Amino acid sequence: MVEKAGQAGAGADEGAMFPHLFAPLTIRGVTLRNRILSTGHDTVLPEDGTVNAALIAYHAARARGGVGLIVTQVAGVHETARYTAHLLMATDDGCIPGYRALAEAVHRHGAAVFAQLFHPGREIMESADGLLAVAYAPSSVPNERFHVMPRALTPRMIDEIVAGYAAAARRMRTAGLDGVEVVASHGYLPAQFLNPRVNLRGDVWGGDAAGRQRFLREVLRAIRAATDEGFVIGLRISAGEREEDGLTAAEALEACVALEADLDYVNVTTGTSATLGGAMHIAPPMAFAPGYVAPDAAAFKRALRVPVFVAGRINQPQEAEAILAAGQADMCGMTRAMIADPEMPGKAARGAVDDIRACIGCNQACIGHFHKGMPVSCIQHPETGRELAYGTLPPAVRRKRVMVVGAGPAGMKAAVTAARRGHDVTLWEAEAQPGGQALLAQLLPRRAEFGGIVTNLMREVERAQVRLRRGARVTEEVLRDEAPDAVILATGARPHVPDLPTDGAVQVVTAWQVLRGEVRPGARVVVADWRCDWIGPGVAEALAKAGSSVVLAVNGLHAGEVLPLYVRDNIAAELHRLRVEVRPYARLYGTAGDTVFLQHTPSGEAVEVERVDTVVLCLGHRPVDDLAEVVERLGIELHMAGDCLAPRTAEEAVFEGLKAGVAV
Ligand code: SF4
Repeated sequence: MVEKAGQAGAGADEGAMFPHLFAPLTIRGVTLRNRILSTGHDTVLPEDGTVNAALIAYHAARARGGVGLIVTQVAGVHETARYTAHLLMATDDGCIPGYRALAEAVHRHGAAVFAQLFHPGREIMESADGLLAVAYAPSSVPNERFHVMPRALTPRMIDEIVAGYAAAARRMRTAGLDGVEVVASHGYLPAQFLNPRVNLRGDVWGGDAAGRQRFLREVLRAIRAATDEGFVIGLRISAGEREEDGLTAAEALEACVALEADLDYVNVTTGTSATLGGAMHIAPPMAFAPGYVAPDAAAFKRALRVPVFVAGRINQPQEAEAILAAGQADMCGMTRAMIADPEMPGKAARGAVDDIRACIGCNQACIGHFHKGMPVSCIQHPETGRELAYGTLPPAVRRKRVMVVGAGPAGMKAAVTAARRGHDVTLWEAEAQPGGQALLAQLLPRRAEFGGIVTNLMREVERAQVRLRRGARVTEEVLRDEAPDAVILATGARPHVPDLPTDGAVQVVTAWQVLRGEVRPGARVVVADWRCDWIGPGVAEALAKAGSSVVLAVNGLHAGEVLPLYVRDNIAAELHRLRVEVRPYARLYGTAGDTVFLQHTPSGEAVEVERVDTVVLCLGHRPVDDLAEVVERLGIELHMAGDCLAPRTAEEAVFEGLKAGVAV
C-alpha cells in the first residue's frame, strides 16, 4: 500500500511551477503523491486474460515517471463480461499473482494503484472465436454501434454479477491494490441500469431513479462488505453520454448524489460506447478542445463532497493545473500524456516543461491499436508498450560517426536514439526546416497539433546533442568527404503521380501542392483518395471551407477507412456538415473536357463527375531512396527508416527510426 506522499526525484522546489498539481491527496487513508492520474485503458498487452510482464513493465514505467495514481484497465467480473478477445478477467483467484506483481511494481515507485471492475452489458465489440456472443443487458434494447440485440438479465444473473464485482474486489485487495473503480461510464452495464431509455424493467432493478440505481448500490455495498474499511471504492461515470438515448448529465449526477455515501470518489468522463457520435469522447481526437470535460466535472464537484476526478484531452500540466486551480476537479486524468511521455509528471515537477513530449491527440497508436486488437503504443514514443524490448537503450559497443540523412520523424528519432547510445551523430536535412511530411500534415484542417511531433523531436535532438545541418543536401561527393562509419537513410517520399489519361482541360494537382498553396483549385473539385487516410478528407474539408463544391472519391469503403475509428468518425461528421459528396469504391480513371471518369471498383462500371475544374491527387507516395545504392557502393554501413523504405505513416517512421538507432 502507498502510505507516504513522495515524488519522483523529489527536491525542495519540486512542483513549484504547478502547486495544485503536486499537492498530495488522501482518499480513505491512501495518499496520492500528486493529482496526476492514469485512467483505466485497455492496453491489449495481456495475452491470456491475466496480468503479464509486459503490462507490469508498462505501468512500472509510468509509476517511475512520477504519476500519482494508476487505474488499471478493465477486468471482467463475470463470464458474460467478455467484450473483447483480450479482456483481463478477475473471475477466479488465478488473477491474484499477476495483480500482486503489478501492485508491487507500481508501489515500488511511489504511486498508488486501483483496478477497474467491469461489465459491458450490451456493449460487446468482438469475441475470441469470431462468433457473435449472447449479450446481456437490463432490457432488450439494441446497441446501435455494434449491432447487438441483448437478452434481458434475469434476477438470478443480476445477483451473480453483483457477487462477481464483490469477489473481484476481494481478489484485488488480496493482491495488494489500493482500491477499485466500478466502471459506470460510457454506457456500460451500470450505466445501462441507470438509463431509463435502456432500462425498461418493471421489477426492483428498474422503474424510478431509486430502482435504476439499485444495481450500483448493491454492487458498491457488496464490494465494501467483501473488502475492508481501508480499501478505496470509486465510480467512473459519464457526465452525460452526449447521445439521444444516452444517460444525461442530470441523471448521472442524481445517481452520484444518491450513491455518494457508498463511494470514495467519482471519476468524471463523457460519451458512450453505444454510438459512433458518443464513442469519440472515449478518447477524443485532436479536433476536440483540451480539457473540454472540466466544466462538466465542475458541476459534480459542486454537488458532491467526495473527490472528483476528470479526464478528456488534458495533455499538458499547464491545463491540469488550471483545472485544479479553478476548483473544477481534484485529480486530472492524463493518460495519453503519459502514453506519449511516461516521464511527464517528473518533468513537470522539475519545471522542465519544454522537455515534455506532449501528446498530440492523434489516437493512432494508443486507442488506434486497441481497435485493431494490437498492444498500446505511441507514434511519438514507440517504446510505449515495448518496455521489455526498448525500455533501456543498449550503450554503443564502439562509438561511430553516424550520418543520418533526412530530418523528418524517422531521421530525428534515429539520430536521437543513436546519440543517446553514445554515437557521434550528425543529422542532415536538405530543407531549411526539419520535419518532413509532418510539416504538411499539420496544415490539414483541425490537424495543427500534429506539428507537435516536430517540436517534440527537435527538443530531443537538442537534448541529445545531435549536430543538425539544415539546407544541406547529401550527395555522393558529401558522403566521400564525410566518410561516416554508418549512414541512416531517412529521406522520405514524394507524391505518387500516375500517368493518367487526360486532355488537360481539368487541372490535375497533388495534395502537397494544395497544402503548400502552390495551386489554386477552382469551384468544382474532385479529390481522388486512394489512401483513405487523413489527406484526402483533409484536403476536401479545406477546399469546401474555402467555398469549393467537392466530391471526395475514395478508393475504399468510406472516407478515412484506415484511420483510428474516432478520428474517422469525427472526419465523417465534418464532411457531412460541409456537404462534401463522398463517393465510395471509386478508382480514378482519367479526365476528358470538364468530366472526371471514375470506376466503381466492385462492379467495374464507369462513374462520371461533370463540370469539374480541378482534380487533387491523394494517391500515395513513392520512396526517395536514391542514396541507398550509393552508400552500399561506397561500402558504408547502411540502415533505412520510414518512407524511404516504404511510404507509410509517421508511426512506422518513428519506430523504424528507433530500430535503426538501436541497430547502428
Ligand atoms: Fe497521443 Fe497520438 Fe501518442 Fe496516442 S499515439 S498517446 S494520441 S501522440
